Amino acid sequence: MFNVNILTLFPEMFPGTLGQSIAGKALEKGLWSLNVTNIRDFAKDKHNTVDDSPYGGGAGMVMRADVLGDAIDSLNNKPSTKNQKPKLIYMSPRGKMLTQKKTEELLVHENLAIICGRYEGIDQRVIDNYDVEEISVGDFVLSGGEIAAFLLIDACIRQIDGVLSNPKTLEEESFGEGKYKNLLEYPLYTRPEIWRGSKVPSVLLSGNHKNIEDWRLKKSEEITENRRPDLWERYNKDN
Ligand code: SAH
Repeated sequence: MFNVNILTLFPEMFPGTLGQSIAGKALEKGLWSLNVTNIRDFAKDKHNTVDDSPYGGGAGMVMRADVLGDAIDSLNNKPSTKNQKPKLIYMSPRGKMLTQKKTEELLVHENLAIICGRYEGIDQRVIDNYDVEEISVGDFVLSGGEIAAFLLIDACIRQIDGVLSNPKTLEEESFGEGKYKNLLEYPLYTRPEIWRGSKVPSVLLSGNHKNIEDWRLKKSEEITENRRPDLWERYNKDN
Protein backbone atom coordinates (compact mmCIF):
# COMPACT_ATOMS: atom_id res chain seq x y z
CA MET A 1 0.00 0.00 0.00
CA PHE A 2 1.13 3.54 -0.79
CA ASN A 3 2.19 5.23 2.45
CA VAL A 4 3.05 8.91 2.69
CA ASN A 5 4.90 10.42 5.64
CA ILE A 6 4.85 14.18 5.94
CA LEU A 7 7.42 16.18 7.88
CA THR A 8 6.00 19.62 8.55
CA LEU A 9 5.82 22.49 11.02
CA PHE A 10 2.09 22.70 10.27
CA PRO A 11 0.63 19.22 10.89
CA GLU A 12 -2.89 20.66 11.19
CA MET A 13 -2.81 21.41 7.44
CA PHE A 14 -3.17 17.64 6.79
CA PRO A 15 -5.02 15.80 5.40
CA GLY A 16 -6.69 19.07 4.31
CA THR A 17 -7.68 18.82 0.70
CA LEU A 18 -6.37 15.23 0.60
CA GLY A 19 -9.19 14.27 2.96
CA GLN A 20 -11.81 15.30 0.37
CA SER A 21 -13.19 13.93 -2.86
CA ILE A 22 -11.18 11.27 -4.72
CA ALA A 23 -8.11 11.29 -2.47
CA GLY A 24 -10.26 11.43 0.68
CA LYS A 25 -12.44 8.48 -0.35
CA ALA A 26 -9.34 6.47 -1.21
CA LEU A 27 -7.85 7.35 2.19
CA GLU A 28 -11.03 6.14 3.92
CA LYS A 29 -10.97 2.92 1.90
CA GLY A 30 -7.38 2.30 2.94
CA LEU A 31 -5.99 2.52 -0.60
CA TRP A 32 -3.25 4.79 0.73
CA SER A 33 -2.23 6.03 4.17
CA LEU A 34 -0.94 9.26 5.62
CA ASN A 35 1.34 9.76 8.61
CA VAL A 36 2.12 13.31 9.71
CA THR A 37 5.13 14.20 11.84
CA ASN A 38 5.43 17.56 13.55
CA ILE A 39 9.05 18.64 13.14
CA ARG A 40 8.69 20.89 16.18
CA ASP A 41 8.31 17.79 18.40
CA PHE A 42 12.05 17.28 17.89
CA ALA A 43 13.11 20.77 19.01
CA LYS A 44 15.85 20.78 21.61
CA ASP A 45 15.20 23.86 23.75
CA LYS A 46 12.36 25.08 25.91
CA HIS A 47 11.26 27.57 23.26
CA ASN A 48 10.87 24.73 20.74
CA THR A 49 13.15 26.45 18.27
CA VAL A 50 13.25 24.85 14.81
CA ASP A 51 15.05 27.55 12.81
CA ASP A 52 17.99 29.91 13.08
CA SER A 53 19.65 32.66 11.04
CA PRO A 54 21.87 31.60 8.14
CA TYR A 55 25.63 31.28 8.56
CA GLY A 56 27.24 33.87 6.32
CA GLY A 57 24.39 36.30 6.89
CA GLY A 58 21.47 37.24 4.70
CA ALA A 59 17.73 37.50 5.00
CA GLY A 60 15.39 34.97 6.53
CA MET A 61 15.76 31.87 8.65
CA VAL A 62 16.92 28.31 7.98
CA MET A 63 15.45 25.10 9.37
CA ARG A 64 17.99 23.48 11.71
CA ALA A 65 19.69 20.22 10.73
CA ASP A 66 19.66 18.75 14.25
CA VAL A 67 15.90 19.12 14.66
CA LEU A 68 14.99 17.95 11.17
CA GLY A 69 17.53 15.12 11.27
CA ASP A 70 15.96 13.70 14.42
CA ALA A 71 12.51 13.95 12.87
CA ILE A 72 13.73 11.95 9.85
CA ASP A 73 15.42 9.35 12.09
CA SER A 74 12.17 8.86 13.96
CA LEU A 75 10.56 7.76 10.69
CA ASN A 76 13.48 5.59 9.61
CA ASN A 77 13.39 3.78 12.95
CA LYS A 78 9.64 3.26 13.09
CA PRO A 79 8.90 -0.48 13.47
CA SER A 80 6.34 -0.49 10.65
CA THR A 81 8.79 0.93 8.16
CA LYS A 82 12.00 -0.61 9.49
CA ASN A 83 12.40 -3.05 6.62
CA GLN A 84 11.81 -0.40 4.08
CA LYS A 85 12.99 3.11 4.87
CA PRO A 86 10.82 5.72 3.20
CA LYS A 87 12.12 7.44 0.09
CA LEU A 88 13.01 10.95 1.20
CA ILE A 89 11.82 13.92 -0.80
CA TYR A 90 12.32 17.62 -0.15
CA MET A 91 9.85 19.94 -1.86
CA SER A 92 12.08 22.69 -3.22
CA PRO A 93 12.10 25.23 -6.05
CA ARG A 94 15.64 24.01 -6.79
CA GLY A 95 14.44 20.47 -7.43
CA LYS A 96 13.68 18.50 -10.55
CA MET A 97 10.32 19.49 -11.98
CA LEU A 98 7.38 17.29 -11.03
CA THR A 99 5.93 15.50 -14.06
CA GLN A 100 3.45 12.71 -14.63
CA LYS A 101 6.41 10.40 -15.24
CA LYS A 102 7.97 11.39 -11.93
CA THR A 103 4.72 10.58 -10.07
CA GLU A 104 4.76 7.10 -11.65
CA GLU A 105 8.33 6.57 -10.42
CA LEU A 106 7.43 7.72 -6.92
CA LEU A 107 4.46 5.36 -6.73
CA VAL A 108 6.81 2.41 -7.15
CA HIS A 109 8.52 3.30 -3.87
CA GLU A 110 5.28 2.76 -1.92
CA ASN A 111 6.71 4.53 1.13
CA LEU A 112 7.55 8.23 0.83
CA ALA A 113 8.65 10.82 3.37
CA ILE A 114 8.14 14.38 2.22
CA ILE A 115 9.95 17.25 3.92
CA CYS A 116 7.96 20.48 3.70
CA GLY A 117 10.29 23.43 4.00
CA ARG A 118 9.44 26.80 5.53
CA TYR A 119 11.36 30.07 5.86
CA GLU A 120 14.33 30.15 3.43
CA GLY A 121 14.56 26.37 3.43
CA ILE A 122 16.47 23.61 5.23
CA ASP A 123 20.13 23.20 6.24
CA GLN A 124 22.07 21.72 3.30
CA ARG A 125 23.62 19.02 5.48
CA VAL A 126 20.26 17.27 5.80
CA ILE A 127 20.04 17.03 2.02
CA ASP A 128 23.63 15.77 1.81
CA ASN A 129 23.53 13.30 4.71
CA TYR A 130 20.38 11.51 3.72
CA ASP A 131 19.55 10.39 0.23
CA VAL A 132 17.11 13.25 -0.37
CA GLU A 133 15.58 13.96 -3.75
CA GLU A 134 14.58 17.58 -4.31
CA ILE A 135 11.39 18.05 -6.30
CA SER A 136 9.90 21.33 -7.53
CA VAL A 137 6.30 21.91 -8.57
CA GLY A 138 7.11 24.85 -10.83
CA ASP A 139 9.23 27.92 -11.43
CA PHE A 140 7.69 30.05 -8.70
CA VAL A 141 8.25 30.37 -4.96
CA LEU A 142 5.67 29.20 -2.44
CA SER A 143 5.82 30.15 1.22
CA GLY A 144 6.05 26.52 2.26
CA GLY A 145 6.38 22.98 0.97
CA GLU A 146 2.98 21.81 2.19
CA ILE A 147 1.01 22.97 -0.86
CA ALA A 148 3.68 21.50 -3.12
CA ALA A 149 3.35 18.19 -1.24
CA PHE A 150 -0.44 18.26 -1.77
CA LEU A 151 0.13 18.52 -5.50
CA LEU A 152 2.60 15.67 -5.59
CA ILE A 153 0.49 13.35 -3.43
CA ASP A 154 -2.76 14.07 -5.27
CA ALA A 155 -1.15 13.37 -8.64
CA CYS A 156 0.20 10.04 -7.31
CA ILE A 157 -2.94 8.83 -5.57
CA ARG A 158 -5.29 9.07 -8.52
CA GLN A 159 -3.09 6.51 -10.30
CA ILE A 160 -3.45 3.85 -7.59
CA ASP A 161 -5.59 0.87 -8.60
CA GLY A 162 -9.16 1.28 -7.40
CA VAL A 163 -8.96 5.03 -6.74
CA LEU A 164 -10.65 6.22 -9.95
CA SER A 165 -13.96 4.57 -10.78
CA ASN A 166 -12.96 4.36 -14.44
CA PRO A 167 -9.22 3.71 -14.77
CA LYS A 168 -9.46 4.26 -18.52
CA THR A 169 -9.50 8.01 -17.87
CA LEU A 170 -5.83 7.76 -16.94
CA GLU A 171 -4.89 6.58 -20.42
CA GLU A 172 -6.79 9.23 -22.29
CA GLU A 173 -5.75 12.18 -20.17
CA SER A 174 -3.21 14.87 -20.86
CA PHE A 175 0.29 13.49 -20.19
CA GLY A 176 -1.01 9.91 -20.29
CA GLU A 177 0.50 7.09 -22.27
CA GLY A 178 -1.37 5.46 -25.15
CA LYS A 179 -2.86 7.22 -28.11
CA TYR A 180 -2.81 10.68 -26.58
CA LYS A 181 0.77 10.47 -25.38
CA ASN A 182 2.30 13.97 -25.37
CA LEU A 183 -1.03 15.54 -26.32
CA LEU A 184 -3.23 17.83 -24.25
CA GLU A 185 -6.86 16.88 -23.84
CA TYR A 186 -9.49 17.60 -26.50
CA PRO A 187 -12.49 19.88 -25.62
CA LEU A 188 -15.20 18.33 -23.45
CA TYR A 189 -18.96 18.83 -23.70
CA THR A 190 -22.01 17.60 -21.79
CA ARG A 191 -25.73 18.52 -21.52
CA PRO A 192 -27.44 20.77 -22.41
CA GLU A 193 -27.02 20.28 -26.13
CA ILE A 194 -27.61 23.99 -26.77
CA TRP A 195 -26.41 26.50 -24.17
CA ARG A 196 -26.98 30.22 -24.75
CA GLY A 197 -27.25 29.58 -28.45
CA SER A 198 -24.04 27.61 -28.58
CA LYS A 199 -24.28 24.04 -29.84
CA VAL A 200 -22.23 20.97 -29.07
CA PRO A 201 -20.15 20.02 -32.16
CA SER A 202 -22.42 17.80 -34.25
CA VAL A 203 -19.83 15.06 -34.70
CA LEU A 204 -20.11 14.26 -30.98
CA LEU A 205 -23.86 13.61 -31.42
CA SER A 206 -23.40 11.52 -34.55
CA GLY A 207 -22.84 8.20 -32.81
CA ASN A 208 -20.05 7.49 -35.31
CA HIS A 209 -17.20 6.43 -33.07
CA LYS A 210 -14.55 6.52 -35.75
CA ASN A 211 -15.44 10.12 -36.65
CA ILE A 212 -15.56 11.10 -33.00
CA GLU A 213 -12.11 9.65 -32.37
CA ASP A 214 -10.68 11.36 -35.43
CA TRP A 215 -12.19 14.69 -34.37
CA ARG A 216 -10.85 14.38 -30.82
CA LEU A 217 -7.37 13.52 -31.99
CA LYS A 218 -7.39 16.44 -34.41
CA LYS A 219 -8.50 18.84 -31.66
CA SER A 220 -5.88 17.49 -29.27
CA GLU A 221 -3.24 18.05 -31.90
CA GLU A 222 -4.41 21.61 -32.60
CA ILE A 223 -4.47 22.55 -28.93
CA THR A 224 -1.06 21.02 -28.27
CA GLU A 225 0.54 22.66 -31.30
CA ASN A 226 -0.83 26.06 -30.24
CA ARG A 227 -0.08 25.90 -26.56
CA ARG A 228 2.86 23.61 -26.01
CA PRO A 229 5.53 23.58 -28.71
CA ASP A 230 7.68 21.36 -26.44
CA LEU A 231 5.06 18.58 -26.27
CA TRP A 232 4.18 19.04 -29.92
CA GLU A 233 7.77 18.38 -30.91
CA ARG A 234 7.90 15.20 -28.83
CA TYR A 235 4.59 14.01 -30.26
CA ASN A 236 5.81 14.47 -33.82
CA LYS A 237 9.05 12.64 -33.05
CA ASP A 238 7.12 9.63 -31.73
CA ASN A 239 4.61 9.47 -34.58
N1 SAH B 1 14.79 30.42 -0.37
C1 SAH B 1 14.21 29.47 -1.27
C2 SAH B 1 12.69 29.54 -1.23
C3 SAH B 1 12.11 29.12 0.08
S1 SAH B 1 10.38 28.97 0.03
C4 SAH B 1 14.74 29.74 -2.67
O1 SAH B 1 15.05 30.86 -2.99
O2 SAH B 1 14.79 28.80 -3.47
C5 SAH B 1 10.04 28.02 1.46
C6 SAH B 1 9.76 26.55 1.23
O3 SAH B 1 8.66 26.41 0.34
C7 SAH B 1 10.88 25.77 0.59
O4 SAH B 1 11.77 25.28 1.55
C8 SAH B 1 10.15 24.64 -0.11
O5 SAH B 1 9.93 23.55 0.77
C9 SAH B 1 8.80 25.26 -0.45
N2 SAH B 1 8.69 25.65 -1.87
C10 SAH B 1 8.66 26.92 -2.35
N3 SAH B 1 8.53 26.94 -3.68
C11 SAH B 1 8.45 25.67 -4.08
C12 SAH B 1 8.33 25.04 -5.35
N4 SAH B 1 8.24 25.74 -6.48
N5 SAH B 1 8.29 23.70 -5.40
C13 SAH B 1 8.37 22.96 -4.27
N6 SAH B 1 8.51 23.49 -3.03
C14 SAH B 1 8.55 24.82 -2.92
